[in-house]
Amino acid sequence: MSTLPAGFRPYAWAPSTAELAHRAGLDPVEIVRFDGNVPPLPLPSSRPGAIAAALADINMYPHGGYPGIDEAIAAYAGVDPENVVLGAGADDLLLLCARAFARPGDTVAIPDEPTYPLFRVGVELAGATVGDTDPVLTFCCRPGNPFGDLPEIPDTRPLVVDEAYFEYSGGETAVGLLDEGVVVVRTFSKAFALAGARIGYLLAEPELAAELRARQSPAQVSTLSVALALAALRSPPDVAPVLEERERLTVELRALGYEPLPSRANFVFVPVDEPEQIAQRALSAGCVVRVTGGGIRITVRDREDDDLLLAALAGETRGTPRRARRVRATAETTIRVRLALDGAGRVRVATGAGLYDHFFEQLAFHGGLDLVVEGSSDWETGDHHAAEDTAIAIGEALDSALGDRRGIARYGSADVPMDDALARAAVDLGGRRGAEIRLQLDPGLARHALESFAGAARMTLNVESNGRDPHHIAEAAFKAVGRALRAAIAVEGAELPSTKGLL
Ligand code: PMP
Repeated sequence: MSTLPAGFRPYAWAPSTAELAHRAGLDPVEIVRFDGNVPPLPLPSSRPGAIAAALADINMYPHGGYPGIDEAIAAYAGVDPENVVLGAGADDLLLLCARAFARPGDTVAIPDEPTYPLFRVGVELAGATVGDTDPVLTFCCRPGNPFGDLPEIPDTRPLVVDEAYFEYSGGETAVGLLDEGVVVVRTFSKAFALAGARIGYLLAEPELAAELRARQSPAQVSTLSVALALAALRSPPDVAPVLEERERLTVELRALGYEPLPSRANFVFVPVDEPEQIAQRALSAGCVVRVTGGGIRITVRDREDDDLLLAALAGETRGTPRRARRVRATAETTIRVRLALDGAGRVRVATGAGLYDHFFEQLAFHGGLDLVVEGSSDWETGDHHAAEDTAIAIGEALDSALGDRRGIARYGSADVPMDDALARAAVDLGGRRGAEIRLQLDPGLARHALESFAGAARMTLNVESNGRDPHHIAEAAFKAVGRALRAAIAVEGAELPSTKGLL
């Protein structure tokens, strides 16, 4: 075997979520990763149905390559399919460029270090060294990692511009320079939320693209990943909410006395004196940030998650709050639940289950809960699976947020009228499962949803709702359950119960 260069350090992955949870003494579901620069959720296009056709042919090689995706990428990037080279993530293509351009004894320039560490790994694996004199190749990251800045495009050629964060930059690209020997590397891992699929592409002028393709292994991207990328390209993501949240996070960090750098990516860099210490404090609250470049790098997630990190950075040590995160993935649906029992009235349920999303929002609102439920389901199967899985996922989250249940009121009941309907609900959170749901009329799945919820939450739930309109009967029932729950989860003991026991 050839020897690795002296002092060579391979790419180092961050620890697994399980490992970080172990270090923090938390359950892995409580770990929120702000260190990967990927979106908090897959796109709606990433559903089992998107890979069904590819799965039906999974025994086959992709004979003839993937002309379909080259065309779709070309249309997206405003180039021709001859300009496109597909790879197993941007990483695969960065290493391809390094070994295609650099050989032992050569010098490769990386002008903006600290930058993405894989550039140096690629150079050293090619037997070349990093330096500024007569470089055979230059690497540039734009927007830059870790600072989120937009460095000048170096004027040396050939040049590889890593545009992994292109979509967040407001359209900044070096694609106009392909004719000059510039190679643009991009990925589906970031804005397209497909990091696990390992798929990316590069853009180069046709002859250079052919040279690079000739140095690739025959079909290094799986047909499943190509199917997911194609589905994503059919409805490219809207990054506007991320950019908005990036600005909010920046303002909130400033309010805490930090000085985050302006960012053109989906992360924010915060220079600090003792980054390890701050990262440790964040980790004890379940939040994982990246320590790098003399500061911490924070991935922009969404308001609820970012607020967890902000609270941790503010040094709020209230003990473990009554909160839970839950992911329920089945063949038909993926449902993600974030639930806080002592809520501030933040309620959003969007799973595609129509009426039942609305009913669960009512339940949460009247229960005084914070509840964010996101999900996607295969429409072909109708709303049945989404409603049932949502009910189960919320029930499981409630069970988890209640922890050992010591100190809570345990019983609660409520009467709720709604126009022609009158509902009465009573709950017992003693831990025994049971559901008696009597709805005079049911718009479809209301009884089933409440039964599923009660079972998953380990509660006894007794509901009676009568009236003339099935929608009112069901809605009054969900509201009554919310009101009853509010009473039952109230803390009565002097000590605050938590998912970890009494604090
Ligand atoms: N380039 C940069 C600048 C990155 O930050 C990352 C993500 N770590 C990558 C490339 C890797 O992208 P991919 O997942 O496509 O290999």
